[in-house]
Amino acid sequence: MSRPRVIVVGAGVAGLSAAFRLQQQGCVVTVLEADDHVGGKTASIRRDGFVLNTGATVLADSYTAMRTLAREAGVGDRLVAPPAVIGVVRDDRVHELRAAGLGAIVDFARTPLLSPRSKLRLLRTFVDLLRSRAKVGFDRVEVSAVLDTESVGTYCDRKLDAEIRDHLLGPVLGGIYVVDGPSLSVLALWFTIWKVLLGGLLGYRGGLDFFARALADRLDVQTSSRVTAVTRDGRGAVVAWEGPDGPRSERVDGVVLTVPAPRVAEIFPELDPSVGRLLGDALEPANYVSIRFALSRRPAGRSVLTVAGTGQLGSLATISYEHQLSPGSAPEGKGLIGVLLYHEWVTPRWDWTDEELVAQALNDLERIEPGIGEHVEFTQVDRWSPAALRAVPGSHRTIAELDRLLDPADSVQLAGDYRGMQSVNGSIVSGETAARNLGWTLFGGRT
Ligand SMILES: Cc1cc2nc3c(=O)[nH]c(=O)nc-3n(C[C@H](O)[C@H](O)[C@H](O)COP(=O)(O)OP(=O)(O)OC[C@H]3O[C@@H](n4cnc5c(N)ncnc54)[C@H](O)[C@@H]3O)c2cc1C
Repeated sequence: MSRPRVIVVGAGVAGLSAAFRLQQQGCVVTVLEADDHVGGKTASIRRDGFVLNTGATVLADSYTAMRTLAREAGVGDRLVAPPAVIGVVRDDRVHELRAAGLGAIVDFARTPLLSPRSKLRLLRTFVDLLRSRAKVGFDRVEVSAVLDTESVGTYCDRKLDAEIRDHLLGPVLGGIYVVDGPSLSVLALWFTIWKVLLGGLLGYRGGLDFFARALADRLDVQTSSRVTAVTRDGRGAVVAWEGPDGPRSERVDGVVLTVPAPRVAEIFPELDPSVGRLLGDALEPANYVSIRFALSRRPAGRSVLTVAGTGQLGSLATISYEHQLSPGSAPEGKGLIGVLLYHEWVTPRWDWTDEELVAQALNDLERIEPGIGEHVEFTQVDRWSPAALRAVPGSHRTIAELDRLLDPADSVQLAGDYRGMQSVNGSIVSGETAARNLGWTLFGGRT
């Protein structure tokens, strides 16, 4: 029997993970990527001895799919344990808290971030937190969806208080999802506690693109190749694309499409209309701007990630100290800070120039890092639209509905971060699931 031929559209982590798994199963795989580089939202660039991530930065110890694949691709040793200290901004002061272990309890008991009364109130979440544990995860969307019942703001009004909402849960969720924290589904809260905070963070040597590059080195990846259409053809599909040598097309046995949700129907018009409606209208996109500040010296703080609630630090949601998270990302003695600007702040200012955005972000950053402007060697601005889908109440139930509508035996599989809780690991899991489904169809369950 000849080996099945598969095209994977997109060389982000979802596409590369799908391609790697399909190749292991015996398929002949080509990845087509529109950009001139791999990685998608995990791409990095190199300049003057710095390695600058253009999108994602923070990984969690719970990213087991990523760790396993990194090991199989021979780059497991690039993953390291960074200091797990998180800063939370309140009134222009950063409260540093250890995120894991006994130290987390000690720091939380001592911190003046919350009043003793609010700290005690947090005990009211205990039962809900324990109940959520078995339901949150990077797959099994229909199981998590039962937790998608209300917003974090409503939950705080019902069970906690405004101080916890504005100075703990708002900043932590806002900092991680880059949209107003209290507007998010309470599912995002349970997911973040179990899958991001309690296990601790995961660092990596050099830029985050090490993962995508390692997978791509083991695959046939064609960059600067924008797929324009996928059409069904019997049991397979025809893929058309614009490559460096002009337009091309090929009939293949299977396809994995990993383009962002709002773009799927443009490329694959035969998509079931109810799926198209969910991807196009029912899930709300968010826009992110990330700015990296390459610094001539390292700031003094211990935190690897500082988060600020909406309006606490002007435009800023997250400040990541990348020289700590990613050893080797800045030359010896120099520093690298990345900031993410709140979706709600940046969307109405999308036409601002890079210079205007940098000036505003620097002004806001100076409130917790006074004098930092004098040490900026250069900056890098990246705009992502759509960057993600907002995990507002109901969004996960929509994703579960999408899961029910999509046929796991289809020769065109969809993968990407919109198939679960948005994260690097979630995308990898979605790519591996698509590969498993497609392999099952192509080999009749014989892989
Ligand atoms: C600014 C930012 C910060 C983030 N921070 C974190 C973080 O700290 N931790 C975390 O876990 N997650 C983070 N995320 C989320 C995480 O980066 C993404 O969920 C994940 O990387 C998405 O991977 P993907 O492969 O699904 O999609 P993408 O990375 O978007 O990959 C899709 C690929 O498809 C290509 N493509 C699109 N159209 C076509 C076409 N027509 N033909 C061919 N190719 C095409 C694109 O160029 C892209 O390379 C962040 C995201 C952003 C934007």
